[in-house]
Amino acid sequence: MSSSPLISCTNISPNRSSPRNKPIDRITIHCVVGQCTAERIGEIFQNKNRQASCNYGVGKDGRIILVVDEKDRSWCSSSGANDHRAITFEVASDATHPYAVTDAALQATINLCEDICRRHGKTRLLWFGDKDKTLSYSPAPNEMVMTVHRWFAAKACPGDYLYNLHGMIAAEVTKRLSSATTEGVCEMNQEQFDKMFDASMLRYRRSLQDNDCGTWSEAARKFVTENRIFSGGTPGPDGQPNFMWEDLLTREQCAQVLYAFAVKFGLA
Ligand SMILES: [Zn+2]
Repeated sequence: MSSSPLISCTNISPNRSSPRNKPIDRITIHCVVGQCTAERIGEIFQNKNRQASCNYGVGKDGRIILVVDEKDRSWCSSSGANDHRAITFEVASDATHPYAVTDAALQATINLCEDICRRHGKTRLLWFGDKDKTLSYSPAPNEMVMTVHRWFAAKACPGDYLYNLHGMIAAEVTKRLSSATTEGVCEMNQEQFDKMFDASMLRYRRSLQDNDCGTWSEAARKFVTENRIFSGGTPGPDGQPNFMWEDLLTREQCAQVLYAFAVKFGLA
């Protein structure tokens, strides 16, 4: 898959390099400088003279447009080195400092980060808040790193509003990515466990509804059945009394076997 299932519309920009030449391990979030719709972001990047694009646009109402397929490099962050590795977003924002975005756009941005990390096998989204540390960092295969446009050009992008939320976005996305695996294990309560355990025991008991056993015990089995030291239960599928040869023996049953043996041979 080379685009997000979260998109509402698509308007592919001519401003792109196809295909990208690096694996994806970065996300770069930008601000549009204008509270516009997803469709409007798509229109802006149809203009070839702009020489600009993004992979996704997030509109003011949280709807998402695909502008450059993930397999291609967008022209977004004033850095080929970054954009060949990054999935870039343009998020609708106010036109002035601190370039705030709507809650709907912020939630859509977080959801899109989560979706991208999942589809690319990442379990951690990292924000270091430090250009040198970030650009020299080699992410592990499960890590996605956030970068910002202001590190590559004299720009305010992504605006202080989104910049100051990068730590929250990284933490929230990483929490979501890890909770999906741990909750699956921890969610079971006692009642559910008991049901599962009972079902498992029932399946085990049903597996004993025949007289399967090893040939090494043939003489012993013949002896204890002929002398009625062991008694079988309801006949199994083979029509013979079910001696449950492979089942475990309780102490109660063991006592009964010894008692039957003793009675048979006049010891009790
Ligand atoms: Zn930017």
